[in-house]
Order: sequence, then C-alpha cells, then structure tokens
Amino acid sequence: MCNRFFVSIYIFLKFLYNKLKDGPWPKDQETPAEKTIGAEKSMVKQLVHDPMFLAQKSLPATKEDAQVITDLLDTLNANLDTCVGMAANMIGVKKNIIVVSFGFAKMVMVNARIIRKKGPYRTEESCASLLGGPRQAIRYGEIEVEYEDADFQKKRETFIGWTAQIIQHELDHVEGKLI
Ligand SMILES: [Zn+2]
Repeated sequence: MCNRFFVSIYIFLKFLYNKLKDGPWPKDQETPAEKTIGAEKSMVKQLVHDPMFLAQKSLPATKEDAQVITDLLDTLNANLDTCVGMAANMIGVKKNIIVVSFGFAKMVMVNARIIRKKGPYRTEESCASLLGGPRQAIRYGEIEVEYEDADFQKKRETFIGWTAQIIQHELDHVEGKLI
C-alpha cells in the first residue's frame, strides 16, 4: 500500500516504460535483472500491473518458495519510497507470501489468514500495482493473523492500526481482490 501521490506518478511512468520496453524494438540489450534470472541471487523484480493476473487467487506457499521471499523483500526495499507492503503476485508469483515494512524492519508472512477481526472502518487506499485510485476499502482496526514466518515457523499474532491495514491490503492481493 502506498503514498497515493507519488505512486500515481510512479505507476504511470512504469506503465509507459513497460509499454515501450515491450514494443517492437530490437531487444539486444538485457537489463542486469534479466541476466540474473535462474540464478540463486536475490533480485529486484518488475511490478506486475496486469489486472487479469492480479485477480487470480494465490496458492499456498511451501519451503521451495524461499527464493520468492528474498526477491519480494528486495523488491519492497527498492520501492520503499512508495510502498509499505507487497504480495508475491505483485512480482508475478501466485503464492501466499506477503511482506510488510516497519521502516527498517520488514515482516514476512507466509500462508497468512485472518482468524479474527474487529472494529471496521472505511478508508481509502492506493496500490503500486493498480493504475488509478485511491480506492475505497473497509478495514478492521484489530486483526488476529495465523501465519508462518520466513523460516516457515507457525505464528499467531494480533495487529492493530496501520500495520493491520497494510496486512489486510496485501492479503486482499493474495485472494486476487483488486483494491
Ligand atoms: Zn496493492
């Protein structure tokens, strides 16, 4: 979830960039990111903006998806000026993995699901993956979440306020809900 002003400009530029990049131009130059595909190294990924892809529900993640966690953290870190959270399908992987930023610290949640929620309120949110916005959303002030951490250890925790809101936004992505 992101700062709506900067993210609008960012999304627009990124959209233009992707359009031009995929156009009928000769592709003799690979970007450094493309060169590392398939390697064990982590890397910053392009954000997916295709609503048809983002509308699909993600599958449960397993330990074999550990690389996705690293890539997602790297991509969030590269977009911290506009983003406070990210879901794996935003980098093209339909697995239930989200990351949330608390400034310097980042939290990884694998196979997260909200098991309790209370205190609904209406708010507006923008999204780095979707053009336009901000959009209306109903969020809950307090949520209890069951998830696995980056080491796939099961956890159950209660979150409130801004952190709870980010988690709810990212878990909507996991469900294929376009915010
Ligand atoms: Zn979003």
